[in-house]
Amino acid sequence: MADNVINFTRGVPPVDVFPTQDLIRCTDVALRRDPSVLLQYGQPSGYQPLREWLANRYDVGSEQVFVGNGSLEVFSFIAQTMMQPGDRAFLESPVYDRAITLLNRAEVDVVGIPLEEDGVNIQILKTELKRGAPALMYVVADFQNPMGTTMSLEKRKHLAALAEEYDFWIVEDGPYRPLRYWGQDVPALLSIAPDRVLHMSSFSKVLAPGLRIGYVVGPASAIATITQWAVDSYIGPVLPTQGMVNQYCREGLLDRNIERLKEMYKPRLQTTISALEKHVPQCQWTQPEGGFFIGITLPEGSGIEHLVEQGKQIGLKLADGRAFFPHQEDGNQFLRIPFCSVTPSDIEEGIRRLATIL
Ligand code: PMP
Repeated sequence: MADNVINFTRGVPPVDVFPTQDLIRCTDVALRRDPSVLLQYGQPSGYQPLREWLANRYDVGSEQVFVGNGSLEVFSFIAQTMMQPGDRAFLESPVYDRAITLLNRAEVDVVGIPLEEDGVNIQILKTELKRGAPALMYVVADFQNPMGTTMSLEKRKHLAALAEEYDFWIVEDGPYRPLRYWGQDVPALLSIAPDRVLHMSSFSKVLAPGLRIGYVVGPASAIATITQWAVDSYIGPVLPTQGMVNQYCREGLLDRNIERLKEMYKPRLQTTISALEKHVPQCQWTQPEGGFFIGITLPEGSGIEHLVEQGKQIGLKLADGRAFFPHQEDGNQFLRIPFCSVTPSDIEEGIRRLATIL
């Protein structure tokens, strides 16, 4: 057994990237300036100054922004308010595993649409739409979790047109969108179909997940519905961290932090790709241009369950790829490598170890 265990299971930032000193100072400034709001009930759609800062960034009105305790919970509010049990809900396959869990909990009919390098397979999407339109379709259009892929502009336009024709919501989950390491930005679905899209994002990947600040931008009527559900769930979100982040953003520190993260993560993605080419050319992998993940298809005959077990024997923690598929058996040959929290030398060593068990 190797002395150091290399962990390729978690899509988290490395702990050494958090700007702790700035966050302590921003908390101090925020609490001194606005204690009666930040420590009281109220602000059910999120701390108003932060909503306004985000509204400005997305070029919408603040009534179109809801800020809650992490984007996952925001998605649970969307799932509770925008669907009825028995409705259909579409998502990419594979997709963020907790999105599958939340939709299953909402007792809807979950339909996975196969994901390709440039977004979902449009032909299969159309066939499913003819069987019955969903209440919503959940997509991670930029640097997808778990595949790392980005939806092309053409497919975004196609999806937006289909949402209009079949009258469903697109939930565009974009926590990785600001983390592009090379290539060109593709317009957000939100900008293509502002009346049809609920665009979620989060400070978890661009600042720190422990803050638990996520948000959704969308039509004001939908934001009002989500807010009412939130009030009945928790009265209001945690406000001191929103005050801290508002101060941090207004000092212009967020964009600087994003640049710093990109400088750290870009070489990690480059190392991952070159290590894959060197050690496991028999696999196929996606071509991410940003984000946290690269998706790997294992060669025929190598099941992920067995690989996870073998990895444990040699100090390599791997995630069972089946969890990312609405139909788990579709993920038998799938491995997700999260590269941001692992140092370049551990990435190289981890992929070398992977080669020995393939
Ligand atoms: N959506 C996606 C696609 C994610 O990968 C994650 C975190 N792994 C989340 C949502 C949850 O983010 P938050 O910390 O804001 O709840």
